[in-house]
Amino acid sequence: MRFLGVGNAASLRLGSSCAVLLRDRLPLLLIDIGPDALARFEAAFGALPQAVFITHAHLDHIADFEPWFYRLAFADAPLPRLYVPAPLVPILQRRIADFPNWIAEGGRNFWDVFQLIPVSETFWHGELKFDVFAVRHHAPDAAFGIALPGSFVYSGDTRPIPDQLLAYPTETVFHDVSVRGNPSHTGLDELQRYPETVRARLWLYHYGDSDEAALAGQRLARTGIDIALAEPVALATSDGQRAWTR
Ligand SMILES: [Zn+2]
Ligand SMILES: [Zn+2]
Repeated sequence: MRFLGVGNAASLRLGSSCAVLLRDRLPLLLIDIGPDALARFEAAFGALPQAVFITHAHLDHIADFEPWFYRLAFADAPLPRLYVPAPLVPILQRRIADFPNWIAEGGRNFWDVFQLIPVSETFWHGELKFDVFAVRHHAPDAAFGIALPGSFVYSGDTRPIPDQLLAYPTETVFHDVSVRGNPSHTGLDELQRYPETVRARLWLYHYGDSDEAALAGQRLARTGIDIALAEPVALATSDGQRAWTR
């Protein structure tokens, strides 16, 4: 996993939080696309993303949809796959897509340039099966985490989620952190309430510019540093999938 930014909505220096799952050193799946994520992705990989998962619809996680649309609207490029938890689709429609004049000349709808794939509890990508689960951020069904069993859990923006993490006893855990907890994010003291078996697997992100000193001693994700993950759980169906899916 390589983070392209590790900051919260107010920390421009750290970049908006987003991360790329790599396989064989190539980008497989980008998680979130906040401000400047597109440029950071392109600088790292020399191309636009081919697949993105969206955790929720705060602008620090989706703002780069607009520049991404314009890059795609005039290009003859394959549609990138956009995995969006189903409850977020109407929110994305209101917050991003429902703009009357995407192109002055007309002729383009926002969704023309993306392959929108609403997802529920699981989805397939790159012959891997990912889990999706609700987290605790402002309101029920407002934000979602993603996991690749055997490999990683990515909390997205959330309050503590001990119930969800029970399902992932060995995976690396990428987790929201704030120095002080609040109704939307997990405080450092709250992280200490996770059992040691969870705390030992945490990498923290979504912190603030001024938080780094207070978080000294914690394992903080850093932009541009690759974090090795265990192999995902082998799936009995994966050979069959490969044979007949694109
Ligand atoms: Zn955020
Ligand atoms: Zn948020």
